[in-house]
Amino acid sequence: MSEDQLLCGKTIGIIGGGQLGRMMATAARHMGYRLIILDPKPNCPAAQLADQQIIASYDDIDAIKQLGKVTDVVTYEFENVDLESAQYLAQLGLLPQGTKALEMTQDREKEKHMIKMLGQPVVPFQMVRNLVELKRVMKELGLPAIVKTCQGGYDGKGQVTLFSESDIAKVEVLLQEEDRLIYESLVNFDCEISVIFTRSADGKIIYFPIAENQHRDHMLHMTIAPARVSQNIFDQGREAAKVIANALGVIGTFAIELFVKGTDVYINELAPRPHNSGHFTIEACNISQFEQHIRAICRLPLTPVVFHGGAVMVNLLGDNLDPYFSKIDQLERAHIHIYGKDQIQAKRKMGHLTFVDPNRDQLLMTLKDQQLI
Ligand code: AMP
Repeated sequence: MSEDQLLCGKTIGIIGGGQLGRMMATAARHMGYRLIILDPKPNCPAAQLADQQIIASYDDIDAIKQLGKVTDVVTYEFENVDLESAQYLAQLGLLPQGTKALEMTQDREKEKHMIKMLGQPVVPFQMVRNLVELKRVMKELGLPAIVKTCQGGYDGKGQVTLFSESDIAKVEVLLQEEDRLIYESLVNFDCEISVIFTRSADGKIIYFPIAENQHRDHMLHMTIAPARVSQNIFDQGREAAKVIANALGVIGTFAIELFVKGTDVYINELAPRPHNSGHFTIEACNISQFEQHIRAICRLPLTPVVFHGGAVMVNLLGDNLDPYFSKIDQLERAHIHIYGKDQIQAKRKMGHLTFVDPNRDQLLMTLKDQQLI
């Protein structure tokens, strides 16, 4: 045991009290830590499992200072943490994850340039600041394409897909609010995968099984693990993850989303935190992405991951809660997670289901036969 290890009884602060914070809190609770959540919404999903909530906006520096005073370590459930607040906590030695990964992942332009500089594959892209540049880049990179805002976009928000020149009007709307946009080629990928791993303070990386992700309306619908891709793709994904993790000095759980096309991969996005596509690890592995994250930030040794063979995770959005629960008699094998959100809304993530079976393909067939996926 070393002096800087944080054992049970210590207090963990989490910035952000949604489902990711809640699942981190669940893992931390099992391990005997105390929890304080900072979130503007009273009784938010994570606060329901915590000792205390500081009700304040994420960039309220007084609230951050208060959080710093009453915790032994702080982490976050999303990348849009106010950088100044993060720097403040890091200076106090309370934010082992540091601020570098946050800074890079808060801005798609910075993120993409960094990935490129590290020699890792990204989809061809260029920056666009006005209509003239848009037209020039459209000629150079061609159509179809996807235009994305650099900051604040998630789950498909702030994105426009372009199939013909007539779609330029949609980008003009975005340009009225944004000073720069990313124009990137639309990849006709075979599948999307994510590499989720945890890195310890001393640089050890432990990977979870690579997951295959299916999106609907730009939002994650389903994750299949392990991904149905070749060993070569697994190796490329893990190598890219290692390079990025070491360059950013990642501590904690981190996710890299990639497109797979033929024998190539392209990195689409980084997430400096546990990821929706890693929820299956809660039941399908000996340790979850959340517990491993808590271990990393508390400087406990990381646990070698053992996978139980196969898993399918389905997100429950506001608009598919009823269809699933009307089939409750068929859900005897589903691990049901409901996040405790105050209101059901159509595209809001309300919970998820995980099915585990050592035989992934048999599991997929059964779920399809039951019309559960
Ligand atoms: P993002 O916000 O970048 O994670 O995008 C959300 C989803 O949109 C991705 O998971 C993909 O399904 C789709 N998408 C984003 N960028 C591209 C691209 N360049 N080519 C094809 N699909 C994309």
